[in-house]
Amino acid sequence: MKIRVLTLFPQMFDCLNESIIGRAIKSGKLDFAAVDIRAYSKDKHQKCDDTPYGGGAGMVMAAQPIYDCINAVDPNHEYLRIYMSPKGERLSDGLCRTLAKNNNILLLCGHYEGVDQRVLDLCIDREVSIGDYVLSGGELAAMVVIDGVSRFVDGVLGSFDSHEDESFSNGMLEYPQYTRPPEFMGLKVPEVLLNGNHKEIASFRAQKSRELTKRLRPDLLSGEE
Ligand code: SAM
Repeated sequence: MKIRVLTLFPQMFDCLNESIIGRAIKSGKLDFAAVDIRAYSKDKHQKCDDTPYGGGAGMVMAAQPIYDCINAVDPNHEYLRIYMSPKGERLSDGLCRTLAKNNNILLLCGHYEGVDQRVLDLCIDREVSIGDYVLSGGELAAMVVIDGVSRFVDGVLGSFDSHEDESFSNGMLEYPQYTRPPEFMGLKVPEVLLNGNHKEIASFRAQKSRELTKRLRPDLLSGEE
């Protein structure tokens, strides 16, 4: 999958070079680049924002640098162009799976009071939010999308099974996990997990998964979001 992020702060994305996503980038499963919107500003001081028409607090990211940046990165509209926005569709397991079906994804990160609406109307296919709260910029939200979506790209996780057993994959929360030692601070690993009986283990996990979901996220069981 090819991912391009358009941002005023490309260095924020350096942390993607770590762990699972970092390995996927190094191995070529993900082709990732953060593109500096400022480089496309026609202003002599490379300014990318201005005061809002109609008044009000803060600054708005101007249309021109973003428009030129998008068209330089994606001249033939081969990318799914996403604007990170608190007004967008809320990210979920299902949306991550859907987005992972695209070969090319472009994520536009706003800052300040947001982005001139005209460039969104002209260039953007979809708006995605990571939750009902306001961040100071779209960069952290874009990183959440990149991580959540990349897990469904073939070869990014060690084994395909690793995301099929996770919370939300079957509409429920995952069962509790344990590792060695068998006893820690007086707390024992449930006996059933030590006996090697796969049928009993599967049934124990299914039961725990249901109990946890009922207690922590009853909305998932009733089919609500
Ligand atoms: N004035 C905007 C509003 O009230 O809807 C919020 C602007 S916010 C301070 C700056 C940028 O952060 C936005 O343009 C967007 O790119 C990003 N952002 C903020 N909250 C977000 C969220 N929940 N999900 C995704 N992106 C978000």
